Amino acid sequence: MSQPRIRLGMVGGGTTALIGPVHRIAARMDDRFELVAGAFDSDPARGREFAATLRVASERAYGTYEEMLAAEAKRDDKIDAVVIVTPNFLHFPVAKAALEAGFHVICEKPMTTTLDEARALAELAKRTGKSFVLTHTYTGYPMVRQAREMVAAGEIGTLRRVEVEYLQDWLATAVENTGSEGAVWRTDPAKAGQGGAIGDVGTHAYNLAAFVAGEEPTHLLAELASLVSGRSVDDDAMILMRYASGAKGAILASQVLPGNGNNLSIRIYGDKGGLEWWQERPEELWFTRLGEPRQLLRRNGAGATAAAIAGSRVPAAHPEGYLEAFANIYRDAADALRSPPGSEFIPNAEDGVRGLAFVAACLASDRDGNVWTKIED
Ligand code: NAD
Repeated sequence: MSQPRIRLGMVGGGTTALIGPVHRIAARMDDRFELVAGAFDSDPARGREFAATLRVASERAYGTYEEMLAAEAKRDDKIDAVVIVTPNFLHFPVAKAALEAGFHVICEKPMTTTLDEARALAELAKRTGKSFVLTHTYTGYPMVRQAREMVAAGEIGTLRRVEVEYLQDWLATAVENTGSEGAVWRTDPAKAGQGGAIGDVGTHAYNLAAFVAGEEPTHLLAELASLVSGRSVDDDAMILMRYASGAKGAILASQVLPGNGNNLSIRIYGDKGGLEWWQERPEELWFTRLGEPRQLLRRNGAGATAAAIAGSRVPAAHPEGYLEAFANIYRDAADALRSPPGSEFIPNAEDGVRGLAFVAACLASDRDGNVWTKIED
């Protein structure tokens, strides 16, 4: 018999939000979730009004997340999980309150604005026994999962180098007061956290590198910059990384380079071969065995690995993309919520802590004169 849908309450993701709508689409794609409640907006009235457009019942359209948690906790048909799609500074208080009220959490990245908060949340998730899913989107792409499986299977041999770039241009001008709501909070350290580009896109890049390589670096050296004059957070970062195995890594993260949309890519090399993937062409994975011609591997095509097949919804050559990748995160989240910890592919609280340890190490390295800095465990 099919299991009942997991009931969601969403915090954030209101009228003008960027990622909230993506969560709502992704959560529905495999029919394992239903959105039944929410506190969708920083403006309570606007949030309630918006809830009606989503067909959320009026008594479950809340003005604040505190109201939602208190009222839902008393219902027989209460929500199972809280989805957090607010600006970064709210992730910690909302997730903490949700876990304490006995709900699972599906949270946007970066997990929190500080490493201490991230550690406290991970500890709380462990103590309460509730699942904490961190929506690092890119781990949901079939060809990213295939790359991880090929690396783990030894297809590129012993790891030599991982290079990840995440380049954008949407914060290339002084949007601090004039840009979209999302641009304004991202350039305000009180709301984004101390890390600007390193928190916003750098944590995605770091997570992707770790996900595919199956190894975490131990040290990094960072050069951060605020290339838009007067900006209070970094908007451009160049980071070198060292692995305990002797492998090397590099992350280039920027939000101010004209011509870049969501230019995320990974190149990973071992002593026997290499793999290359671009987010803007997500169905393709280039594979080279040393000494042989480069091969183009296609999603769900010849040579597809088990995870890539499982993560595909339509046959090869019918295009899939960002929404399906996000839906894979939700599908795995459903499994993780029902029988923790769930699949190896689903980013969790520990990944969130590592993301914040990465941000903290970047800030320390840059502050201390661009020196090699340990990434805290
Ligand atoms: P946004 O500014 O577009 O939307 C934020 C929403 O939160 C708005 O609707 C706002 O009204 C609402 N909000 C603010 N304060 C609130 C409160 N107290 N109670 C209820 N709602 C409140 O931001 P965004 O770009 O959607 O980013 C949201 C989060 O998602 C950020 O943490 C960001 O880093 C992350 N994000 C992740 C991805 C990804 O690929 N996984 C992509 C974009 C954004």
